[in-house]
Amino acid sequence: MKVTFYGTRGSTPVSERDFLQVGGNTSCILVTFDTGRIAILDAGTGIRKLGNDLMACSHEQYDNIYIGLSHTHWDHIQGFPFFKLAYDPRRHFTISICGKERHANSLESILTTQMQHEYFPVPLDKMGSALTFWEPDITSYTVPSGVSIIASKHNHPGGAYGYRLEEGGKTLVYCTDVEHGEGIDQGVVALSRDADLLIHDAQYTPDELKEKKGWGHSSWEQAGEVAEQARVKRLALFHHDYDHTDDFLFNMEKECQKRFPQAFLAREGLETEL
Ligand SMILES: [Zn+2]
Ligand SMILES: [Zn+2]
Repeated sequence: MKVTFYGTRGSTPVSERDFLQVGGNTSCILVTFDTGRIAILDAGTGIRKLGNDLMACSHEQYDNIYIGLSHTHWDHIQGFPFFKLAYDPRRHFTISICGKERHANSLESILTTQMQHEYFPVPLDKMGSALTFWEPDITSYTVPSGVSIIASKHNHPGGAYGYRLEEGGKTLVYCTDVEHGEGIDQGVVALSRDADLLIHDAQYTPDELKEKKGWGHSSWEQAGEVAEQARVKRLALFHHDYDHTDDFLFNMEKECQKRFPQAFLAREGLETEL
């Protein structure tokens, strides 16, 4: 399994020069499985370049490209209108939030609203590709190619889901937009147990977190504690704050590595094999 980071920023994209080494696009990750099939996690602004790259290499997967969403806050869906593959009538996508207890509007209506004419010129149902919306009331399933997926809901305003993907003895855990509260959420630790790579929300420093209770995010220290308790092999610090420059984040990475040597910053364009 291979992971490519296309968007690692949280909350809103940023474009100033001193942010671009780490990257300014919001949450989006490409997962390439051993079979060559792909899946996408979150559809923040990073999905624009992801789509362009797949078009440039004439990627041959036309059926059922899976897009798993952690939740539907803007920074996780706002890139979708600019995802060129979704305008290709030969392509089919399954857009999904997997897990129990979603009581809000349907996924289809949320994405439709984002593209209604007050906000965007092209409506969702005129994009051209076939879109299936899937909100299963299950937290664990295995797809025919042998990839198993476990979803777990965690604390975030409106709720968000973490995903554990396993293929060929390798495990990826994607857990962003998570607020732990007083102690570390043991559900997140359980989801992350023995993962080869944990991608975890690390929006704040420990000091910043004190001022941001209820905002729905974690500090790098909490990300490290999850990694330690779950005994993960590597930790990618993710969902970088929109006010944290490259220099700030490189310092944060060093601080984090003093306690958790296996940690690194998720940076746009970075590709890593599990
Ligand atoms: Zn977010
Ligand atoms: Zn959020």
